[in-house]
Amino acid sequence: MDKLVSLCKRRGFVFQSSEIYGGLGSVWDYGPLGVELKKNVKDRWWKAMVHARDDIEGLDAAILMHPRVWEASGHVAGFTDPLVDCKTCKARFRADKLQDASCPQKPSKHPGEHSACALTEPRMFNLMFKTFMGPVEEQAAVVYLRPETAQGIYVNYQNVLNASRQKVPFGIAQVGKAFRNEITPGNFIFRTREFEQMEMQFFVKPGTDEEWFERWREWRMAWHHAIGLAPNRLRWHQHGPGELAHYAKAAYDIEYEFPFGWNEIEGIHNRSDYDLGRHQEYSGKKLEYFDQAANERYLPYIVETSAGADRVTLTLLVDAYREEEVEGETRVILGFHPSVAPIKAAVLPLVKKDGMPELAERLYHDLKKRFPCFYDDSGAIGRRYRRMDEAGTPYCCTIDGETGKDGTVTVRDRDAMTQVRVHQDQLGAWIAERLA
Ligand code: ATP
Repeated sequence: MDKLVSLCKRRGFVFQSSEIYGGLGSVWDYGPLGVELKKNVKDRWWKAMVHARDDIEGLDAAILMHPRVWEASGHVAGFTDPLVDCKTCKARFRADKLQDASCPQKPSKHPGEHSACALTEPRMFNLMFKTFMGPVEEQAAVVYLRPETAQGIYVNYQNVLNASRQKVPFGIAQVGKAFRNEITPGNFIFRTREFEQMEMQFFVKPGTDEEWFERWREWRMAWHHAIGLAPNRLRWHQHGPGELAHYAKAAYDIEYEFPFGWNEIEGIHNRSDYDLGRHQEYSGKKLEYFDQAANERYLPYIVETSAGADRVTLTLLVDAYREEEVEGETRVILGFHPSVAPIKAAVLPLVKKDGMPELAERLYHDLKKRFPCFYDDSGAIGRRYRRMDEAGTPYCCTIDGETGKDGTVTVRDRDAMTQVRVHQDQLGAWIAERLA
């Protein structure tokens, strides 16, 4: 992880928020390469969930919502973690995660195990960020930064239904920021206080929920494979009775094997009719669905798929990071699937003379119209290849002595380091074909 974190900073994937002021705890900024990588994650998700399907509509709900939403959802009363303080070192821990934490004074021990530890009794701490709407800071003006995007979907379910031609079963998908005042954030961008979620709520007829749940489990795992994650580092974790959220009928997490252990990257939940039932009760508005064909009314069940864009981005970085020995030197590679790689191709004139830079620039401007490219003419060609390997660029296109004669360029493959010659007029299409 240390190597990855420093690569991320050096190459402009992820920076600490407000770094010149000493940073802000567990809040991160995405640099030029990071913003492209994360955007590709979100774009691939949107494409698979919304554009490629006829039964899911997109939504972009506001972060601030009516405070009653969070009473109905159960977050005001129940979105809490047990917190303990150490009176000696002043550190805070999640009481249910002491075994995952280390004592700041004696890192080989867990909090509470060192003779100097003085842990308080656990007290419940609400993870929602609170703020005030309008000029008066009083209880009546409290609003929350949403801790999940899902509620924006539930409260808009009838709007979407009325505005689109969907019928149950159908889904609503949304990508957006969520905020949680986590007690023990950490592991880089794995657990942060501000993050982005990619959530989809699928509304189904009661009785068909289990079947849809299984389908969504299969589709979501296939998506993680399709973005290039190693299947042997992905697994299912089924929530047991003690773990299952009060609203859930069944829940599975997709977990990835990070350097810090197996951890959740996405949750698939059968939420029953809990959400619409609660919003119906709290808002006083009927949220039943009228099935014209069957002439019946019911409250749909919801199958949810909930993934973190930042967590998936971290997973891609961890999964892609490799070191190899090449001719006595260490080659660092981010072996991203071409569809998520921030830069798709680099254009490199072999030398800065003999008309090569002119040919290279022309090619660069041509390719840049189709996908993100990078132009680099400084330093030895081997060095330039290494820089692109570290950025995860799948193809390096070198303009050399042959290019002026027959119009072909050398295309080097990042992973195999093999080279083929492709005519410059076909290069854009050749690369585009490999980005799907
Ligand atoms: P965890 O047990 O890791 O806190 P959770 O079970 O609370 O996660 P959900 O509420 O199911 O998570 O959220 C769905 C997804 O949102 C998670 O799978 C994860 O990818 C992402 N997510 C949740 N909390 C965070 C966070 N603090 N930082 C980054 N991503 C998060």
